[in-house]
Amino acid sequence: MGIKNGHHRGVIGQIFDGLGYHAIPCGNNTGLCIPLAVDAGLGELGRHGLLITPEYGPRVRIGKVITDLPMAYDQPISFGVKEFCEVCGKCAEACPVQAISHGPQTDKPVNISTNPGVMKWPIDADKCYMSWMIAW
Ligand code: SF4
Repeated sequence: MGIKNGHHRGVIGQIFDGLGYHAIPCGNNTGLCIPLAVDAGLGELGRHGLLITPEYGPRVRIGKVITDLPMAYDQPISFGVKEFCEVCGKCAEACPVQAISHGPQTDKPVNISTNPGVMKWPIDADKCYMSWMIAW
């Protein structure tokens, strides 16, 4: 089960607790939220490395609750994000530090911060992070 608003993960956890199950509300500290959200069928991974959902595009914040509450599994979805990002590339053009890939998807890391072995547009997280540090 995916949750599209991280602010609600504590509330959801309390509900699971109230039903008598274990619940651990968490963010990226226990596992990366975006790959799990993709696996949970909340949306697709965009070129910019963010989740894109059918309802809200990339304008979502993700939290999650690890629980032993039995529930049905959702499946990954496809609604054309990959195909659109392959020809769009506007985020890669606009990124001020050029941290977003211009090329095709690859399973090769761009640096030590990239998880290898998964086909995606790898983000140069080091460039992105340094940009944020300078900006703030
Ligand atoms: S390639 Fe286009 S559609 Fe895909 S994430 Fe970038 S700006 Fe959005």
